[in-house]
Amino acid sequence: MNPKLSNRVNKMATSATLAMAAKARELREEGKDIIGLSLGEPDFTIPEFVKEAAIQAIKDDYHAYTPVDGYADLKQAIITKFKRDNDLTYSPSQIVISTGAKQSLANLAMVLLNEGDEVLLPAPYWVSYSDISKVAGGVPVEIPTSIETDFKITSEALEAAITPRTKMMIYSSPCNPSGSVYSREELRALADILVKYPDIIVVSDEIYEHINFTEGHASMAQFEDMYGRTVTVNGVSKAYAMTGWRIGYIGAPEYIARACNKMQGQITSGANCIAQRATITALENPPSKIQYMVDAFKERRGMVLQLLSQIPGFKTNEPEGAFYVFPDISYYFGKALRGKEINSASDFSLYLLEEANVATVTGEAFGDANCIRISYAASETEIKEAMRRIREAVI
Ligand code: PMP
Ligand code: GLU
Repeated sequence: MNPKLSNRVNKMATSATLAMAAKARELREEGKDIIGLSLGEPDFTIPEFVKEAAIQAIKDDYHAYTPVDGYADLKQAIITKFKRDNDLTYSPSQIVISTGAKQSLANLAMVLLNEGDEVLLPAPYWVSYSDISKVAGGVPVEIPTSIETDFKITSEALEAAITPRTKMMIYSSPCNPSGSVYSREELRALADILVKYPDIIVVSDEIYEHINFTEGHASMAQFEDMYGRTVTVNGVSKAYAMTGWRIGYIGAPEYIARACNKMQGQITSGANCIAQRATITALENPPSKIQYMVDAFKERRGMVLQLLSQIPGFKTNEPEGAFYVFPDISYYFGKALRGKEINSASDFSLYLLEEANVATVTGEAFGDANCIRISYAASETEIKEAMRRIREAVI
């Protein structure tokens, strides 16, 4: 807390995922052999065809400011992608391209929330939803779940959390951090509640759409009675391993898209021109082109679950998508490991960093104080070694 800084930033938490990644980096620079399973970042390189498109864009002299809401032909590629993959129909005025899905989410919070508006967050939720909402004046309202229900909320829990101040709900499916995937039927059950409260805007974060090991991906906006108040958020960071290229986008009701365009126009302007050109190529290609990454993530999920099952005190669900496992490690609370007392998920995550040289993220940052998040977007060798070290550190 520094009184010279704004209340806004003083009341904000540092992103726990980024903080842990920075700490791991620091320790590595000091010469420690840290295995980083904290950051949700594919370890693959960008597919060749996407790289070539970026190189071509540089050669073609793309250099100037881009339209605030994105190139028209990228919007068209996004519209085609929404139709092809999600059976969603959007027009160009409903699309806004941003500097990562994180900016898409920040725009939404800034244009939709007034002071004191409540934001429903089915927990566990992605770390930044809560602080992005708070910065915009919103009040996060967690809807707790448990590992027994695969970390999914029920319609009863949803309805019980709604108040006259509820403005928005944000969730991800496939979910970061639990890997849970809501089926079409499960989303419909939630929609049946939401239709009774027409003023609530739903933000459906589908950035892990393609990293889904179930039969298929369902979108809230596919329901006709939800389409007019659902914002679909997506991006290329995860599926195309383009995390550093910073391109995310939304399909939204037109008035919301216009407001995001206005907000972005005063804060960052249009997203990077070369990354936008490359994104056109990424999205125009069929998702089958990136299936090799999805297959690898599925293999690794099996491996992590199998190895974790051999470590006492780790309780897991079976994640159906994304590239995280979110084990409940509350078994260790109140116990001492190598003389260190473990009283929280943060203590446990720190213990793993210090004693096993493995970086994870505490579940507290995701709204679940019993769990830690392990990203398996790492090589098989790293995963095996990390699990071996964790086992050794706790038995
Ligand atoms: N949503 C979720 C659920 C995420 O895990 C991430 C990870 N970065 C983002 C949004 C933001 O993605 P980006 O800004 O890289 O597009
Ligand atoms: N979304 C990733 C994660 O959850 C990247 C880090 C971040 O942007 O928070 O780890």
